[in-house]
Amino acid sequence: MVKVRFAPSPTGFLHVGGARTALFNWMYAKAQKGKFLLRIEDTDQQRSKQEYVDEILDSMTWLGLDWDELIYQSQRFDIYKEHALKLVSEGKAYQDGDAILLKMPKQEVKFWDLIRGEIVFDTASFVVWDEESGSKTNETGEAQLKDEVLLKSDGSPAYNFCCVVDDVLMEITHVVRGEDHISNTPRQLIVYQSLGFKPPKFAHLPLITGADGKRLSKRTGAVAVSAYRKMGFLPEATMNFLMLLGWSPGNNQEMMSMKNAVQKFSVKKINKTAAVFDMDKFRWLNGQYIKQADPQYITSALIPLLKEHQLVTDDVDPGFIKEAVTLYQSRLPTLMDFLDRARYLFLEKVEIEQEAKETILAKDRTMEFQLLADRLHALDAYDKDSAEKSFRAVVDELGLKASDLVHPVRVALTGSAVGPGLFETMALLGKSKTVYRLKNFTNE
Ligand code: GLU
Repeated sequence: MVKVRFAPSPTGFLHVGGARTALFNWMYAKAQKGKFLLRIEDTDQQRSKQEYVDEILDSMTWLGLDWDELIYQSQRFDIYKEHALKLVSEGKAYQDGDAILLKMPKQEVKFWDLIRGEIVFDTASFVVWDEESGSKTNETGEAQLKDEVLLKSDGSPAYNFCCVVDDVLMEITHVVRGEDHISNTPRQLIVYQSLGFKPPKFAHLPLITGADGKRLSKRTGAVAVSAYRKMGFLPEATMNFLMLLGWSPGNNQEMMSMKNAVQKFSVKKINKTAAVFDMDKFRWLNGQYIKQADPQYITSALIPLLKEHQLVTDDVDPGFIKEAVTLYQSRLPTLMDFLDRARYLFLEKVEIEQEAKETILAKDRTMEFQLLADRLHALDAYDKDSAEKSFRAVVDELGLKASDLVHPVRVALTGSAVGPGLFETMALLGKSKTVYRLKNFTNE
């Protein structure tokens, strides 16, 4: 049975790269009907923080990356020590003060990477630079290999050691991780060999770069998964986007349900070349997911954001939000765009865009607005149709074209020159706000 793991160190938030590693492991486990373990590598007690553990677990839960087992390395120090001492008793490792080091044999280390094929290292490249003599060789001219620390003097295990012990004890069949770990793999293979265990299969995922081809930076997308959540990305879209960072089902298909992707997923199809984090594509995908989603679902995702940004309070009417969602959801790259475009619905006083003031409202329409406001006020049943009727009547009476007034009214009501149909907007905004905004309009 396939058993994989995601092994984050809680020394920072869950970033795009980590989330992609978690996702590929998870997809592989699902595709193979195997198991997916989440192993928190919190051995560095100085740098590991509970808030990062919480954030990692929250983000994974939000994405829907559920795990079969959750393990904390900090609870397993005895196990690592036991294995290190065994190596000492076998003469393969030695104590140096309170630390334990593995004697590094001089040999070639080869492994087959499921993505990159054969990778060959020579431990001779792990040489120590001797500061004093300025040489990399001993008296007999042999390269001095750097021994591998297993346990540090504070008793905590080194990553390359506890990772191997755990991968063995947890019966991990495939280690799928970022390409930045390739150089650790030969060291870990020596640890497997010393412990007398058979290593798992390895797959090193390609680097993720920004559109500029450079390592991801804050600007090009290296931010926490939780930050994308706050920016208004949906978990489904985020998963779809992450899934395409280094893998594709092979037919240029971009939007894909997770179920479908899992059926097609194979580690061997992962690219060797760097994956590019394309923010425009992410926004596009997210927009597609928002458009196709059940308005109720978008409403539930939006309410916390609206609260967080103090646009609504606890007694918000979800029915109203849902109506607004229906009107806007086809054109929202992110949920935050809803907050931007529909904020006029929640404000007491509408904020008018400067440019719209100078162009669309350049001509004084106070008189027209007053007249329209009076007619709307007088309506018994105020809705999209009756608002439209009143509007058209006013336009006719004043000898104007509908377009002369559509844009100014939209700006007066919403603050923006663009938006959904005017009459839908008027209906959504409601009678009292619509009348109030038209009646009290001043172009200041
Ligand atoms: N704790 C390591 C990391 O966060 C895990 C690497 C591995 O998967 O072996 O990078």
